[in-house]
Amino acid sequence: MKKIVIVATGGTIAGVGEKGKTVAYHAGEINIDDILVTIPDVKHLAYLEIVQFMNVDSNEMNPDIWMKLSNTINQIIKCDDVDGVVVTHGTDTIEETSYFLNLTIHSDKPVVLTGAMRPATATSADGPYNLYQAIALAANDEAKGHGVIVLFSNTIYSGRDIQKVNNYKIDAFDQKSFGCLGYMQDERAYFFSKTFKTHTVQSMFSNEKLEKLSSVAIAYYYAGADEAYLEYLAQHNDGIVLVGSGNGNFSKAWVRMIETCYQKYGTVFVRASRVPLGIVFSDHVFDPNQRCISSNTLSAQKARILLMLALTKTTDFKELKTIFKKY
Ligand code: ASP
Repeated sequence: MKKIVIVATGGTIAGVGEKGKTVAYHAGEINIDDILVTIPDVKHLAYLEIVQFMNVDSNEMNPDIWMKLSNTINQIIKCDDVDGVVVTHGTDTIEETSYFLNLTIHSDKPVVLTGAMRPATATSADGPYNLYQAIALAANDEAKGHGVIVLFSNTIYSGRDIQKVNNYKIDAFDQKSFGCLGYMQDERAYFFSKTFKTHTVQSMFSNEKLEKLSSVAIAYYYAGADEAYLEYLAQHNDGIVLVGSGNGNFSKAWVRMIETCYQKYGTVFVRASRVPLGIVFSDHVFDPNQRCISSNTLSAQKARILLMLALTKTTDFKELKTIFKKY
């Protein structure tokens, strides 16, 4: 039998609220053991070991916790007797943690994140079933080599591309235009696609213990957005991800301020888009001095993670551009 380690971090899957109701609950209240007792059949899937890493709403996640979590999982997964890891996590920021781990875990063994949209105390909570499937997936050899993956609502997503697209329904996730990696039927997995982007063992960010990340902020553009706050962000950060309109666009005032920040503070800029689907290419009209790296298909919050890691390796613009193409 396979050995799977569950690393529990909290989230709605461990949430407690008014009995039977789906609203007014607090995430990260009960321990993972209390969820596991509701799915006794997991004992047929794998031998389980539990690490209650923390118990919080995922809005309490931050770069320091990501590094600690990644270092912990790397320690666990390198043990010969461990076949895979399941991470329980809140859905609000699961797409950020999954991408961070996708870039920093040094193993091709399955690492599967899951969570829930309904608290553990709700009528028909979705967490126990997601957890059951995540354990089955982590114990499945077919789940190896896909990078860090997320199991949610019978669907297997890539840690790079998953995005929360609904803040209410239990089928809350999607993978942009790329569909999904596969589906699950109870404990069986059916894979249909693979990511071409570099991850885990091949990732240049997975080779050493993480100790420090660069600081990167996100600036959201909207019609008439004041450019002055870009300078404030540039004074306090190494990089800024710009969430532009359309294909990562913004006003001429922003174009001028980007140049000012680059000249004064050496700020590294990435252009992402506030439009959820599509791709941001480099652009000579909105970025005439070529000061911005395009985010490719990454959302701003994922581009921020890649830039935080990339800036620990290089500040060379060309190399950073290559990294954004590759990852
Ligand atoms: N606020 C919760 C969290 O992210 C939402 C959830 O888990 O669904 O922890």
